Amino acid sequence: MTQPIEVRNPRTGMPDYRFTPPTERELDTLATRLREGQRDWAAADAAHRGQVLQDWAARIEARRDDLAAALEADTGRRRLARLEIDGAIASIRGWASRAAALMPRSDWVEGRANPAIRHAGQYLPYPLVGVISPWNFPLTLSLIDAIPALAAGCAVLVKPSEVTPRFAEPLSATIGEVAGLAGVLALAPGVGETGQGVIARADLVCFTGSVATGRKVAAQAARRLIPAFLELGGKDPLIVTKTAPVEAAVTAALRGSVLSTGQACQSIERIYVAREIHDAFLERLTDEARKVRINWPDIASGEIGPIIFEAQAETIRRQLEDAVKKGAEVLTGGTVERHGGGLWLKPTVLTNVDHSMAIMTEETFGPVLPVMAFETEDEAVALANDTEFGLSAGVFAGTLKEAEVIARRLQTGAVSLNDAALTAVFYEAEKQAFKASGLGPSRMGDAGLTRFLRRKALIANTGAPAPLSAFAEEAGS
Ligand code: NAD
Repeated sequence: MTQPIEVRNPRTGMPDYRFTPPTERELDTLATRLREGQRDWAAADAAHRGQVLQDWAARIEARRDDLAAALEADTGRRRLARLEIDGAIASIRGWASRAAALMPRSDWVEGRANPAIRHAGQYLPYPLVGVISPWNFPLTLSLIDAIPALAAGCAVLVKPSEVTPRFAEPLSATIGEVAGLAGVLALAPGVGETGQGVIARADLVCFTGSVATGRKVAAQAARRLIPAFLELGGKDPLIVTKTAPVEAAVTAALRGSVLSTGQACQSIERIYVAREIHDAFLERLTDEARKVRINWPDIASGEIGPIIFEAQAETIRRQLEDAVKKGAEVLTGGTVERHGGGLWLKPTVLTNVDHSMAIMTEETFGPVLPVMAFETEDEAVALANDTEFGLSAGVFAGTLKEAEVIARRLQTGAVSLNDAALTAVFYEAEKQAFKASGLGPSRMGDAGLTRFLRRKALIANTGAPAPLSAFAEEAGS
């Protein structure tokens, strides 16, 4: 028996939901059922799978209010919860309509070295894909890998975070309403051990979460010799050059950093500004940050929601304390506020920061904007690259051309030019995480689907098979 888990509501601080993670035996049953269902699913063509997925999108649309209520309780935010649902529907429809075209063709091709030998490819989906997701965008990050995996012909077992499991019930209801889907898709909310149970049973694991857990997932997957696609943390920099328009750069920096209360992997977490415009930028950023409202007491007001995971508030507090102790100055924000049992942090602008401070090197995952001046482009690039992370970055300059020169020097999987955190809204460009921010092929762009297919080669000889004697020592040099 696994123990029931009490789930804390991020707006009240009180437990208001309870669920029991699956036992080992229940996971066995689920995995067996999904593996069985996958055989027919993979044998059907992509157009059929696309139709089932389209039906699913319609069911989610029909149950949008139930799902939104659960997701709102999970995250303490209203508009973003609805945007997550709309994004999921659009993503299902997008993959469903493109899946058939994306499945690789497998014609016979004559060999280059020996035309008598021909080859063709067969593309086989991994039978069971395990997805393990974090709490910051519970629905989006539970489905971002699951949808293309399904479209490719895999079965998928999703393990949502124990911090935000409420949405799994209404989402599972939608899955049950679509003929043919429940046999290949299931959600099993649970704890870390449940995640380990998923890795123990899957043929491939897609993990989104912290670097620390990612290392454990990679190690377990390595022991089983299954691929682990890891999407981990970040410490995204934004470089603002002396030619950048201050107002627009501040708009991008603020939204890129504080949207979703900074609880996004691609949030801007450190800002480097050219000395020439540093003071003007800092002043405007501080003014704009002061105007941002928390969505308390009315969830239907303000721009930013609560800190979802209580322990995260402690990380932010510790980093702010360390920075101030080492000489940083807080220009606005800076204190985690408790309202009605929930925790909020208003956008926090810091100056006098450097890389001896955790706030400049460790992932913060909060609405914190430390600003540092630079003298030369080389210095800005060196500072941006001085990190163990390599998820994404931003460059704001007077022209796109100028921004591009700097962007090409950054060691990250994506760079937003003359904006920030564009990977949150634009999914068409393939990208991989650099350094400790992850491992594996791109989840964005067409590779998002094709990474779930294994390539098998069929190699045919149209001539006579070579005899062993052709390889005899006497046959020549
Ligand atoms: P986390 O690593 O603590 O947990 C992620 C998931 O892993 C949860 O479902 C958890 O139950 C599960 N888990 C815990 N231990 C496990 C184990 N040993 N084996 C298997 N699963 C286990 O991360 P979190 O705090 O939920 O999420 C925040 C982190 O996620 C941040 O670091 C953030 O940057 C990262 N993130 C990355 C991306 C990306 O696309 N790169 C997107 C969103 C969030």
